[in-house]
Amino acid sequence: MKVALFNEWQLGVVRDDRIYDIGASLFEERPPRDCPMVEFIKHYETFKPIAERLLADAPSYPIAEVRLRQPVSRPNKIVAAPVNYLSHKQEMNVLHTARGLGFFLKANSSMIGHGDRIVLPGVKAGRRIDHELELAFVIGRRAKNVKAEDAYRYIFGYTGLNDVSLRPDGEHEEERCLRKSFDTFTPVGPWIVTGDEIGDPQNLNMSLTVNGQVKQQVNTKYMICSIAELVEIFSHVMTLEPGDIIATGTPDGVGPIRPGDTVAITIERIGALANPVGEEIG
Ligand code: MN
Repeated sequence: MKVALFNEWQLGVVRDDRIYDIGASLFEERPPRDCPMVEFIKHYETFKPIAERLLADAPSYPIAEVRLRQPVSRPNKIVAAPVNYLSHKQEMNVLHTARGLGFFLKANSSMIGHGDRIVLPGVKAGRRIDHELELAFVIGRRAKNVKAEDAYRYIFGYTGLNDVSLRPDGEHEEERCLRKSFDTFTPVGPWIVTGDEIGDPQNLNMSLTVNGQVKQQVNTKYMICSIAELVEIFSHVMTLEPGDIIATGTPDGVGPIRPGDTVAITIERIGALANPVGEEIG
Protein backbone atom coordinates (compact mmCIF):
# COMPACT_ATOMS: atom_id res chain seq x y z
CA MET A 1 0.00 0.00 0.00
CA LYS A 2 1.16 3.54 -0.79
CA VAL A 3 0.11 5.95 1.97
CA ALA A 4 0.49 9.70 1.98
CA LEU A 5 -0.44 12.88 3.78
CA PHE A 6 -1.87 15.59 1.55
CA ASN A 7 -3.45 19.06 1.58
CA GLU A 8 -4.58 19.71 5.18
CA TRP A 9 -2.61 16.70 6.45
CA GLN A 10 -5.33 14.28 5.31
CA LEU A 11 -4.45 10.59 5.17
CA GLY A 12 -4.59 9.20 1.65
CA VAL A 13 -3.95 5.97 -0.23
CA VAL A 14 -2.26 6.30 -3.63
CA ARG A 15 -3.39 4.04 -6.48
CA ASP A 16 -2.10 4.68 -10.01
CA ASP A 17 -2.21 8.45 -10.38
CA ARG A 18 -4.99 9.18 -7.89
CA ILE A 19 -5.05 9.72 -4.15
CA TYR A 20 -7.99 8.45 -2.09
CA ASP A 21 -8.97 10.41 1.01
CA ILE A 22 -9.62 7.59 3.49
CA GLY A 23 -8.85 9.47 6.73
CA ALA A 24 -12.27 11.00 7.30
CA SER A 25 -14.05 7.62 7.21
CA LEU A 26 -11.26 5.66 8.89
CA PHE A 27 -11.12 7.94 11.92
CA GLU A 28 -14.84 8.82 11.95
CA GLU A 29 -15.39 7.64 15.50
CA ARG A 30 -12.08 8.71 17.01
CA PRO A 31 -10.18 11.45 15.18
CA PRO A 32 -6.47 11.12 16.01
CA ARG A 33 -5.09 13.75 18.35
CA ASP A 34 -1.71 13.45 16.68
CA CYS A 35 -0.47 12.78 13.14
CA PRO A 36 -3.01 10.58 11.27
CA MET A 37 -0.12 8.68 9.65
CA VAL A 38 1.33 7.72 13.03
CA GLU A 39 -2.14 6.54 14.10
CA PHE A 40 -2.43 4.53 10.87
CA ILE A 41 1.04 3.01 11.39
CA LYS A 42 0.29 1.99 14.98
CA HIS A 43 -2.87 0.14 13.96
CA TYR A 44 -1.87 -0.92 10.45
CA GLU A 45 -2.93 -4.55 10.76
CA THR A 46 -6.45 -3.46 11.78
CA PHE A 47 -6.68 -0.50 9.42
CA LYS A 48 -5.27 -2.12 6.27
CA PRO A 49 -8.38 -4.16 5.29
CA ILE A 50 -10.67 -1.29 6.28
CA ALA A 51 -8.66 1.15 4.17
CA GLU A 52 -8.87 -1.20 1.18
CA ARG A 53 -12.66 -1.43 1.53
CA LEU A 54 -12.95 2.36 1.82
CA LEU A 55 -11.23 2.91 -1.54
CA ALA A 56 -14.41 2.14 -3.47
CA ASP A 57 -16.31 5.10 -2.01
CA ALA A 58 -13.61 7.50 -0.80
CA PRO A 59 -13.34 10.89 -2.50
CA SER A 60 -10.31 10.86 -4.78
CA TYR A 61 -8.19 13.41 -6.63
CA PRO A 62 -5.52 13.30 -9.32
CA ILE A 63 -2.14 13.23 -7.56
CA ALA A 64 -1.00 16.19 -9.62
CA GLU A 65 -3.77 18.34 -8.14
CA VAL A 66 -3.02 17.88 -4.44
CA ARG A 67 -0.22 19.16 -2.24
CA LEU A 68 1.70 16.19 -0.95
CA ARG A 69 3.09 16.70 2.55
CA GLN A 70 5.92 14.90 4.26
CA PRO A 71 4.36 11.49 5.02
CA VAL A 72 4.80 11.87 8.80
CA SER A 73 3.97 15.41 9.93
CA ARG A 74 6.26 15.55 12.99
CA PRO A 75 7.99 12.27 13.75
CA ASN A 76 9.30 11.71 17.25
CA LYS A 77 12.76 11.81 15.63
CA ILE A 78 14.76 11.59 12.40
CA VAL A 79 17.81 9.37 12.80
CA ALA A 80 20.40 9.25 10.03
CA ALA A 81 23.37 7.08 9.12
CA PRO A 82 26.57 9.04 8.36
CA VAL A 83 28.89 7.61 5.69
CA ASN A 84 27.03 4.39 4.81
CA TYR A 85 28.33 3.82 1.26
CA LEU A 86 32.07 3.26 0.55
CA SER A 87 31.85 5.43 -2.58
CA HIS A 88 30.77 8.40 -0.43
CA LYS A 89 33.49 7.67 2.18
CA GLN A 90 36.05 7.87 -0.62
CA GLU A 91 34.75 11.14 -2.10
CA MET A 92 34.60 12.79 1.34
CA ASN A 93 38.05 11.42 2.26
CA VAL A 94 36.96 10.57 5.82
CA LEU A 95 38.26 7.93 8.19
CA HIS A 96 35.13 6.39 9.65
CA THR A 97 31.84 4.93 8.44
CA ALA A 98 28.41 4.46 10.00
CA ARG A 99 29.75 1.32 11.67
CA GLY A 100 31.97 3.45 13.90
CA LEU A 101 30.14 6.78 13.84
CA GLY A 102 26.71 5.33 14.59
CA PHE A 103 24.19 8.04 13.79
CA PHE A 104 23.26 11.69 13.95
CA LEU A 105 19.89 13.35 14.43
CA LYS A 106 18.17 15.81 12.12
CA ALA A 107 15.65 18.27 13.58
CA ASN A 108 12.15 17.05 12.73
CA SER A 109 11.25 20.69 11.98
CA SER A 110 13.54 20.47 8.91
CA MET A 111 11.06 18.26 7.02
CA ILE A 112 9.18 19.29 3.90
CA GLY A 113 7.13 17.34 1.36
CA HIS A 114 7.26 16.68 -2.36
CA GLY A 115 7.11 19.94 -4.31
CA ASP A 116 7.96 22.14 -1.31
CA ARG A 117 10.86 24.57 -1.64
CA ILE A 118 14.31 23.94 -0.14
CA VAL A 119 15.36 27.35 1.19
CA LEU A 120 19.09 28.03 1.41
CA PRO A 121 19.66 30.00 4.64
CA GLY A 122 20.92 33.58 4.30
CA VAL A 123 23.03 33.21 7.45
CA LYS A 124 25.25 30.69 5.59
CA ALA A 125 25.42 32.59 2.28
CA GLY A 126 28.46 31.59 0.24
CA ARG A 127 28.83 28.19 1.91
CA ARG A 128 28.40 24.98 -0.04
CA ILE A 129 25.09 23.20 0.50
CA ASP A 130 24.71 19.72 -1.03
CA HIS A 131 21.98 17.27 -1.98
CA GLU A 132 22.18 13.72 -0.59
CA LEU A 133 20.19 10.87 -2.17
CA GLU A 134 18.89 8.49 0.51
CA LEU A 135 16.44 5.67 1.04
CA ALA A 136 14.55 6.19 4.31
CA PHE A 137 12.48 3.75 6.29
CA VAL A 138 9.68 4.37 8.77
CA ILE A 139 9.44 2.59 12.10
CA GLY A 140 6.22 0.59 12.60
CA ARG A 141 6.44 -0.59 16.20
CA ARG A 142 8.23 0.61 19.31
CA ALA A 143 11.74 -0.85 19.08
CA LYS A 144 14.35 -1.20 21.83
CA ASN A 145 17.35 -3.54 21.78
CA VAL A 146 16.18 -5.20 18.56
CA LYS A 147 18.49 -7.75 16.96
CA ALA A 148 19.20 -7.40 13.25
CA GLU A 149 17.50 -10.71 12.48
CA ASP A 150 14.23 -9.36 13.92
CA ALA A 151 14.55 -5.85 12.49
CA TYR A 152 12.05 -6.06 9.64
CA ARG A 153 9.21 -6.74 12.09
CA TYR A 154 9.70 -3.18 13.31
CA ILE A 155 9.65 -1.44 9.92
CA PHE A 156 6.41 -0.05 8.49
CA GLY A 157 7.59 1.13 5.09
CA TYR A 158 9.98 3.04 2.85
CA THR A 159 10.25 6.48 1.33
CA GLY A 160 12.70 8.87 -0.32
CA LEU A 161 14.76 11.42 1.61
CA ASN A 162 17.10 14.21 0.58
CA ASP A 163 19.57 14.81 3.43
CA VAL A 164 20.40 18.41 2.48
CA SER A 165 23.73 19.30 4.09
CA LEU A 166 25.84 22.38 4.73
CA ARG A 167 29.48 21.33 4.18
CA PRO A 168 32.38 22.10 6.49
CA ASP A 169 34.93 24.30 4.68
CA GLY A 170 38.08 24.11 6.77
CA GLU A 171 37.29 27.33 8.55
CA HIS A 172 33.90 26.12 9.77
CA GLU A 173 33.39 22.64 11.19
CA GLU A 174 29.91 22.62 12.74
CA GLU A 175 28.42 19.41 14.11
CA ARG A 176 26.49 17.31 11.57
CA CYS A 177 23.32 18.00 13.52
CA LEU A 178 23.60 21.75 12.89
CA ARG A 179 24.67 21.42 9.26
CA LYS A 180 21.69 19.21 8.40
CA SER A 181 18.91 20.71 10.53
CA PHE A 182 18.05 24.02 8.84
CA ASP A 183 14.36 24.44 8.09
CA THR A 184 13.50 22.73 4.75
CA PHE A 185 16.72 20.62 4.74
CA THR A 186 14.85 17.29 4.88
CA PRO A 187 12.53 16.69 1.94
CA VAL A 188 10.76 13.35 2.52
CA GLY A 189 8.35 11.46 0.30
CA PRO A 190 6.49 11.48 -1.95
CA TRP A 191 4.69 8.84 0.19
CA ILE A 192 5.40 5.67 2.15
CA VAL A 193 5.37 2.27 0.45
CA THR A 194 4.61 -0.41 3.04
CA GLY A 195 7.14 -3.18 3.62
CA ASP A 196 4.88 -5.87 2.11
CA GLU A 197 4.99 -4.08 -1.27
CA ILE A 198 8.62 -3.03 -1.46
CA GLY A 199 10.19 -6.41 -2.27
CA ASP A 200 13.82 -6.47 -1.08
CA PRO A 201 14.71 -3.00 0.26
CA GLN A 202 18.39 -3.93 -0.06
CA ASN A 203 18.02 -4.23 -3.82
CA LEU A 204 16.50 -0.96 -5.01
CA ASN A 205 17.97 1.22 -7.72
CA MET A 206 17.83 4.90 -6.93
CA SER A 207 19.09 8.10 -8.48
CA LEU A 208 19.13 11.84 -7.97
CA THR A 209 19.04 14.52 -10.63
CA VAL A 210 19.61 18.27 -10.52
CA ASN A 211 17.75 20.05 -13.32
CA GLY A 212 17.30 16.67 -15.02
CA GLN A 213 21.00 15.79 -14.96
CA VAL A 214 21.93 12.59 -13.07
CA LYS A 215 24.26 13.35 -10.13
CA GLN A 216 23.91 10.28 -7.92
CA GLN A 217 22.99 6.71 -8.75
CA VAL A 218 23.28 3.54 -6.67
CA ASN A 219 21.67 0.27 -5.67
CA THR A 220 20.80 -0.03 -1.96
CA LYS A 221 22.70 -3.34 -1.79
CA TYR A 222 25.91 -1.29 -1.46
CA MET A 223 25.10 0.07 2.02
CA ILE A 224 27.88 -0.56 4.55
CA CYS A 225 25.48 -1.15 7.47
CA SER A 226 22.33 -2.86 6.22
CA ILE A 227 18.85 -1.63 7.11
CA ALA A 228 18.56 -4.47 9.64
CA GLU A 229 21.90 -3.56 11.22
CA LEU A 230 20.89 0.09 11.48
CA VAL A 231 17.78 -0.92 13.45
CA GLU A 232 20.01 -2.95 15.79
CA ILE A 233 22.63 -0.21 16.23
CA PHE A 234 20.14 2.61 16.78
CA SER A 235 17.67 0.69 18.95
CA HIS A 236 20.44 -0.31 21.35
CA VAL A 237 20.83 3.39 22.13
CA MET A 238 17.35 4.85 21.79
CA THR A 239 13.78 3.65 21.75
CA LEU A 240 12.50 3.96 18.20
CA GLU A 241 8.85 4.99 18.00
CA PRO A 242 6.18 4.38 15.33
CA GLY A 243 6.60 7.06 12.67
CA ASP A 244 10.30 7.68 13.34
CA ILE A 245 12.19 8.26 10.10
CA ILE A 246 15.55 6.58 9.51
CA ALA A 247 17.79 7.88 6.71
CA THR A 248 20.16 5.18 5.45
CA GLY A 249 23.02 7.27 3.99
CA THR A 250 24.08 8.62 0.62
CA PRO A 251 26.36 7.27 -2.13
CA ASP A 252 28.98 9.29 -4.04
CA GLY A 253 28.06 12.18 -6.30
CA VAL A 254 26.93 14.68 -3.67
CA GLY A 255 27.13 18.23 -4.97
CA PRO A 256 25.90 21.76 -4.47
CA ILE A 257 22.35 22.97 -5.06
CA ARG A 258 21.64 26.58 -5.99
CA PRO A 259 18.61 28.85 -6.15
CA GLY A 260 16.55 28.03 -9.23
CA ASP A 261 17.57 24.35 -9.29
CA THR A 262 15.14 21.45 -9.08
CA VAL A 263 16.47 18.39 -7.28
CA ALA A 264 14.68 15.07 -7.76
CA ILE A 265 15.12 11.66 -6.18
CA THR A 266 13.72 8.55 -7.86
CA ILE A 267 13.63 5.20 -6.07
CA GLU A 268 12.54 1.93 -7.65
CA ARG A 269 9.11 0.76 -6.36
CA ILE A 270 8.60 4.05 -4.51
CA GLY A 271 8.49 6.96 -6.95
CA ALA A 272 9.86 10.46 -7.29
CA LEU A 273 10.47 13.20 -4.73
CA ALA A 274 11.18 16.56 -6.40
CA ASN A 275 11.88 19.93 -4.79
CA PRO A 276 12.71 23.36 -6.16
CA VAL A 277 15.52 25.31 -4.51
CA GLY A 278 15.24 28.91 -3.36
CA GLU A 279 17.08 31.20 -1.00
CA GLU A 280 16.16 33.17 2.07
CA ILE A 281 15.45 36.79 1.24
CA GLY A 282 16.45 39.68 3.54
MN1 MN B 1 23.24 11.77 4.67
